[in-house]
Amino acid sequence: MSRLIFLGPPGAGKGTQAKVLSESLGIPHISTGDLLRLSVQGKTLLGLEAKAFMDRGELVPDDLVLAMVRERLCQADAHLGWVLDGFPRNVSQAASLDTLLMELDQICETVVNLEVPDAVLVERMLSRGRKDDTEEVICRRLEVYREQTAPLIDFYRQRNQLVSINGDLPVEKVTDALKYAVATS
Ligand code: AMP
Repeated sequence: MSRLIFLGPPGAGKGTQAKVLSESLGIPHISTGDLLRLSVQGKTLLGLEAKAFMDRGELVPDDLVLAMVRERLCQADAHLGWVLDGFPRNVSQAASLDTLLMELDQICETVVNLEVPDAVLVERMLSRGRKDDTEEVICRRLEVYREQTAPLIDFYRQRNQLVSINGDLPVEKVTDALKYAVATS
């Protein structure tokens, strides 16, 4: 049984690595960014509310994201374990996740932090050509990461849950390091 949280700046390769790892562990990959993009495409109420924040590179309000994560973690496949990618994104979301996991009688053992230098992040994001990845929005997303998400590194380090991985290596090398970290944590 594995439950993992993936931390790291936008462009660090969280999505790619979380997907590979979830497949090899046979547990769902739960990406709040993917779920939000699906809601935007589907023009659901959540999608309509979230879109403006996403277009600006800002975080979608906590209550909307938390309700979405709660619903997803209550689905049957998530009882086997999960890889959370893109959530929590600030300390308040991390506290809400603690409460939610207590309600669900689950514990998350490992928080993986993918480390990648800023210059590499910008280059990667510009080259993947996602619609929300214009240079201005990329810069804002990096700022939001530093202000709101990076404090989670210390938050989880103090709880001895943090494993840092060098994300500035070829994809397969990062995957190997992650698998090793998960197997030994
Ligand atoms: P991502 O694909 O994880 O980079 O997420 C894309 C966008 O979705 C972010 O820039 C935010 O606007 C929004 N988003 C994803 N996850 C969260 C979250 N946990 N809290 C708030 N907003 C989020």
